[in-house]
Amino acid sequence: MIIDCHTHIYFEETYQEYLKESAGMVSVVVCIQSSRYDLEHLIEFASTKKDFFIIAAFDALKNPKRSLKQLERCFKEEKIVGAKVCPGCQKLPATDQTFSPLFTLCQKYKKPVIIHNGWSPDFAPLLKYFSLSDIDELARKYPGCNIIVSGFGFPYFFESAFVAHKNKNVFLDISGNISDGENMALDRQIRQYTDDLRKLLTYYPGIENKILFGTDFAGENTPLSLVNPYIKVIDNLFDGEMKENAFGGLAKKLFFNR
Ligand SMILES: [Zn+2]
Repeated sequence: MIIDCHTHIYFEETYQEYLKESAGMVSVVVCIQSSRYDLEHLIEFASTKKDFFIIAAFDALKNPKRSLKQLERCFKEEKIVGAKVCPGCQKLPATDQTFSPLFTLCQKYKKPVIIHNGWSPDFAPLLKYFSLSDIDELARKYPGCNIIVSGFGFPYFFESAFVAHKNKNVFLDISGNISDGENMALDRQIRQYTDDLRKLLTYYPGIENKILFGTDFAGENTPLSLVNPYIKVIDNLFDGEMKENAFGGLAKKLFFNR
């Protein structure tokens, strides 16, 4: 069974595009909310689907207290399976005090916090907001809170692998680093990404079981429109139990406590 732990599917049209692109290979989809889209609408959308789950965005700027209350209610009612912070989008370091109650909340409900770097082709936040030493600090400060670094921490692959290696509560998803319309041909991107990850696994052999399959799928008319190349990367990297773990076993544990 394959769980895609990182998509941005907010509309029926995008969902249909995803089904077409994934061609029946993915059984469970986890959608990460962008703060541009209303959480309640997204929950309603998810309720019309089977095996479609939501990670809610935490907005530290607008009304963090209200956002926390809403998230707590959603955790209690099992409407969401985790929370996302995007330090770059909010122009705050991940260690900023405003984010602290979120880590405590996710720790309490045993749900992961996804740290999103927020980079997209039309938006490039300052790199200082996506600091792996901040994530290292948070992992130590909230040892009971699982943290997923999205996009394998791109462009900080080495640093991300090291932080996951040294903290048992830090995990890495492979989403977002292969895109359509790049200069490099797809097969070359798949090969390069596989080689880069394989190199990191050589340096940090403890992280093989901390890697999650994810795509960052956002729609067929966006640069993040691919599923199969990410499946190929996991296929290239792992066999047997390790492969099962990356494709869904680990996601089951982190999102669904199974
Ligand atoms: Zn994303």
